[in-house]
Amino acid sequence: MIELPIYQKHREISIPEDIKPLLYGDAKILIAFSGGKDSVALVLYMLELGIAKERIELHHHEVDGRGVDLFDWACTPSYCQAFADAFELPLIFSWRQGGILREMNRENEGLQDVYYEENGAMDIFNEQGNLVHLPSKKGSSTRKKFPAVAADLRTRWCSSIAKIDVLSRLVNNRFKSGNLLILTGERREESKVRSKYKSHEKYRSWTKKRNAWQWRAVIDFTEKQVWELYEKYKVQPHPCYELGWSRCSCQTCIFSSPNTWASIHELSPEKIEMIAKEEKKIDHTLYHKITIWDKVGKGTSFIKSANLKRWKSEALGRFVSPIFVDKWVMPDGGFSPEASGSV
Ligand code: SF4
Repeated sequence: MIELPIYQKHREISIPEDIKPLLYGDAKILIAFSGGKDSVALVLYMLELGIAKERIELHHHEVDGRGVDLFDWACTPSYCQAFADAFELPLIFSWRQGGILREMNRENEGLQDVYYEENGAMDIFNEQGNLVHLPSKKGSSTRKKFPAVAADLRTRWCSSIAKIDVLSRLVNNRFKSGNLLILTGERREESKVRSKYKSHEKYRSWTKKRNAWQWRAVIDFTEKQVWELYEKYKVQPHPCYELGWSRCSCQTCIFSSPNTWASIHELSPEKIEMIAKEEKKIDHTLYHKITIWDKVGKGTSFIKSANLKRWKSEALGRFVSPIFVDKWVMPDGGFSPEASGSV
């Protein structure tokens, strides 16, 4: 009998019957680790359940594909690395060359190739690890569009091109057979779309040999339960939460509210200028009939000056603070109603 984790005082969290043999068997556990609160909760939940660290590996997708720094928070890879080091877990970075921006500008060519660094726990700031290159099919189509601000992943292509497909190609290449559990951190509470997600399903590249399942292990967690885990383990949240962001995804997520765009402008005006230039270059605006400047103008920055002073350089550079804090304090973005992440 597993000891009930702390969230069960609020709501019964059950482990699906299909998942139990994998979870309590020998399956390798891959955690899609964005560095955001739900991916941190996935890790802490596994530890709460007593899963051996040797079975877990973290996977982080770099959405800018090691190209121009536009979508991602600059500190995210270093935050993920610091977290992995603190919990002594392997971390594998993966990316599609040039990321979202490169795909947005695609003209008469195929998708860019995918890369990942094998063996994990390599410091991307110091050395490239064992780099694996997965070429994409040659093609000659044209994108020249921002991702659509829509739930449908076929038009909101940023998630699939920069994250979902990248992980799937890595899985296909690294795990030809065996039992795999792939954990992703969607929660029903986040949006109407997510409220309808299945808690688990066969992974998209399931085969008889590769028994891979996707498990949205924190799908029924509330935000309160997520922060309780942070507090229990005294984990420093990603700097974006300290600055007031409610969700930690891309810094310039297409689902950002006007107040979030105004906050991005206060923090990284060059990113707004870059998006405005892209709108002109590809003759397509991110939002229907309004420019990014209009969107920024409709909002007000929510960043408090003390937080700006404390966290700006770390958020826009390298994360250097300790992962474990002595006294845990709810960050400013905890329970914020501002939209700053995908639906
Ligand atoms: S966080 Fe936003 S911009 Fe980034 S991939 Fe997801 S939907 Fe696209």
